[in-house]
Amino acid sequence: MTEAVDVIVIGAGVVGLSVARALGLADREVIIVEQHDTFGTETSSRNSEVIHAGIQYRPGGMRARLAVAGRDALYAFCQSHGVNHSRCEKLLVANGEEELARLKAVMENAKQNGVTDLRIVSAQEALAMEPNIRCDAAIYSPSSGIVDSHGLMLALLGNVENAGGVLAVESPVMGGRVVDDGLELSIGGREPMTLRAKTVVNCAGLYCDQVARSIEGIPAATIPKLYYGKGQYFTYSGAAPFSRLIYPLPSPDSQGVHYTRDLGGQAKLGPDLSFIATNDDYAVDDTRREAFAQSARRFWPDIETAELVPGYAGIRPKIAGPGEEGDFFIQDKSVHGISGYIGLYGIESPGLTTCLAIADHVAELLE
Ligand SMILES: Cc1cc2nc3c(=O)[nH]c(=O)nc-3n(C[C@H](O)[C@H](O)[C@H](O)COP(=O)(O)OP(=O)(O)OC[C@H]3O[C@@H](n4cnc5c(N)ncnc54)[C@H](O)[C@@H]3O)c2cc1C
Repeated sequence: MTEAVDVIVIGAGVVGLSVARALGLADREVIIVEQHDTFGTETSSRNSEVIHAGIQYRPGGMRARLAVAGRDALYAFCQSHGVNHSRCEKLLVANGEEELARLKAVMENAKQNGVTDLRIVSAQEALAMEPNIRCDAAIYSPSSGIVDSHGLMLALLGNVENAGGVLAVESPVMGGRVVDDGLELSIGGREPMTLRAKTVVNCAGLYCDQVARSIEGIPAATIPKLYYGKGQYFTYSGAAPFSRLIYPLPSPDSQGVHYTRDLGGQAKLGPDLSFIATNDDYAVDDTRREAFAQSARRFWPDIETAELVPGYAGIRPKIAGPGEEGDFFIQDKSVHGISGYIGLYGIESPGLTTCLAIADHVAELLE
């Protein structure tokens, strides 16, 4: 059986839901096909839930271009849709001469990305804000925050459905082909079928490359190699020591092991970064406990290693390997030559923060 629809969005993570919402609000008829039995069970529920200010991305890159707009749109959406969030602020700490010398460069990078509300604070000022902190100086970011990612996805799905869109769960894309007026996809699962659409948006996260490769007619040379950057978390069973998020200074491929807390007040450390061969290894390595404690001790001297408990892990779909700086890669026909296909690759951090800006960008590409 072949059914015809206007738009198929592949994947019901926070990005697929946002894209479906934006296209639904633009009066397109949208179906989201998701392989699992519900939305948001992969990377969108295995992250830090941080609303990033947009500080460290390479100026001019896609992440930098979408970060500030995405952050502002996300705060506005959370407010208007009653999604639990907190603009809890962040301190990026510097310890030692080398890090103190880097503070200005981090500030300058942020400024080029349009992040204009940062301020360097002294050790005394940081201590007045957070009595348990140790640093020689810090960057204070008032527009960083945290969000309930599940609540966000639920609200996005509500918008999709109100606009007439549909989420089809247990509907894995098994393959497909480019046809004259769009694309045709084979959907597996309990009710296998063929779906034909004018527009297909690939938001399959950790499977975006595999999905693209399974569609005949998408030039293989345009499908980027995907690297899997695993990030593990340890939760802290003691009382939460800080009310703000506490980060070390960022490096090109990672923001470093940092301190965050969720909206329920649960403190946690992570994520670390290790490149792995598969996209489904979510085990947390308990032997990393001391290494996490040591990283955090630089800004949190009183941390008790014994209070760290293995938490959870997530995997970043990266288009850059170890030591390289990643970016989002959003492809339209100017890259692959197919008018009905948009491919989203490498949607790692800050994909949660920028989900609404990514969706607007996709809608613009389709206009
Ligand atoms: C450790 C870690 C920490 C992070 N921290 C932050 C943070 O604090 N702030 C921030 O802004 N971002 C953060 N991110 C990034 C953010 O989580 C992701 O960018 C975002 O969740 C990506 O959403 P997505 O919808 O693209 O992917 P996903 O959530 O992975 O969704 C993809 C969906 O596609 C489905 N799918 C795959 N293949 C198929 C198929 N063949 N057929 C049908 N469906 C399919 C999957 O089942 C899945 O539901 C972090 C990421 C990680 C890994």
